[in-house]
Amino acid sequence: MALRLYNTLTNQKELFEPIEPGKVGIYVCGPTVYKDSHIGHAVGPVIFDALKKYLVYKGYHVKLVVNITDVDDKIILESQRLGLSMRELAEQVSKGYFEALDKLGVDSIDVFPRATEHIGHIIELIQRLGENGAAYEVNGDVYFDISRCPNYGCLSNRKSEDQAEGTRQLAGGGKRNAGDFALWKAAKESEVGWDSPWGRGRPGWHIECSAMSMHYLGESFDIHGGGMDLVFPHHENEVAQSVTATGKPFAKYWLHNGLTRVRTKAAGGEWKNEKMSKSLGNIKPIRELLEEYPPQAIRFFLLSTHYRRPIDFSDDAIQSVLKGMTNIYRLLERLERLSGEDVYHSKGSVTTMEELARTETDKAFRNEIHSAHLHYLENLDDDFNTAGAIAVLYELCNSINRYIDQQRLETHPNKDQLTLALEGARTVAMLGQILGLLREPIGKTTGGDALAGQLMGLFIEMRAEARQNKNFALADAIRHKLKTLHIVLEDRPDGSTDWHKE
Ligand SMILES: [Zn+2]
Repeated sequence: MALRLYNTLTNQKELFEPIEPGKVGIYVCGPTVYKDSHIGHAVGPVIFDALKKYLVYKGYHVKLVVNITDVDDKIILESQRLGLSMRELAEQVSKGYFEALDKLGVDSIDVFPRATEHIGHIIELIQRLGENGAAYEVNGDVYFDISRCPNYGCLSNRKSEDQAEGTRQLAGGGKRNAGDFALWKAAKESEVGWDSPWGRGRPGWHIECSAMSMHYLGESFDIHGGGMDLVFPHHENEVAQSVTATGKPFAKYWLHNGLTRVRTKAAGGEWKNEKMSKSLGNIKPIRELLEEYPPQAIRFFLLSTHYRRPIDFSDDAIQSVLKGMTNIYRLLERLERLSGEDVYHSKGSVTTMEELARTETDKAFRNEIHSAHLHYLENLDDDFNTAGAIAVLYELCNSINRYIDQQRLETHPNKDQLTLALEGARTVAMLGQILGLLREPIGKTTGGDALAGQLMGLFIEMRAEARQNKNFALADAIRHKLKTLHIVLEDRPDGSTDWHKE
């Protein structure tokens, strides 16, 4: 199956075919660094880092660029409030952002260009627009003339007349059209600024992304990503500037991720989902979140929703993902304990499973592993449905646990059957690793060695027998006595029992 992606430019899923076969360029709009990063800032990087990993798995050579907006009115205002220079504040906030990405396993971004390092490229691009008659100066400010771009609105389906709302903050005197936006803003001597053909000033937000994406990926490139709130005006304006300057198509596929919402209780007592925003004051810094939860769980959480859907953030939602993730880790540990083999660092090879499958049960189990493998990749090929793919992992883990229990591998280990179950666990780890999940064990959740596992298997069997014989007092006693040793028995929905250390 081939990868299909939903393209905002055409409003449909399309077969993904890079401009140059085998190579993919991706540009994602990164943060404006003026306040501590929150979970919303991690969504784009985690999604596009996972997408890059998947494309690399499929054999592409991928370059991923995420910009840092380090010059902006908001940064200037906040730095004045804090008594810092704009650069100092930007550096400080960027540092926290990079630390968070590092913890979240976002390690595939090739370049983090900063706007202030590309002022020369930005000025050149504005000059090209001027030569094409699409940029004009008014008292040191330079505007883009949207009437020079016949396709204006092609991305957002918003026409120039009804966009006053979106550009209000950029409005200034002397504009030719209400929708014209600033490419360059004049700066007073005391303000942050750079010399330019139009006097001292600083770049507008939209032009920096056009200049940096084209500098790193070429005038036409494959994928441009960002949050859905950026479609208009930011991305619409990027398209307009870039196409008008070069006369060539800009990004071929536009991918927009859903925004983060928070579940909060309204004054009337009812629950509602609202946009996460600084003005609503419902944001928790990501630094705090990463102290409360294992960073892996946050990555799991962000990839457990389809990227185009809103992510409903709440402690309950993260707890639920954490529980599911822990079950997967427990299964992987279970297999490491039973087999004495490394599950994480060897590739699952489905082909060797043929000869291991002796009985009909083995064959059915082998087929389950095989079809889960295919199903997982099919989900990713279908508009990068990581939520569907992760659901396949949970199901596969259930199947492996069930097989181990049915074949009583804890107490009656059979070499071939253990190898088959091990292949299943390795397939789980390998598939997770495609998305940057399950790369390393996260601290033991069961503990103990092979003997401990066998002994626990005996206790679980004795308890099951006691319950079958309606000797509930004995069954409860076994559970309670294990509890005093900080060992918890957990009954699964299929009737089997799992154990872990508290
Ligand atoms: Zn941007």
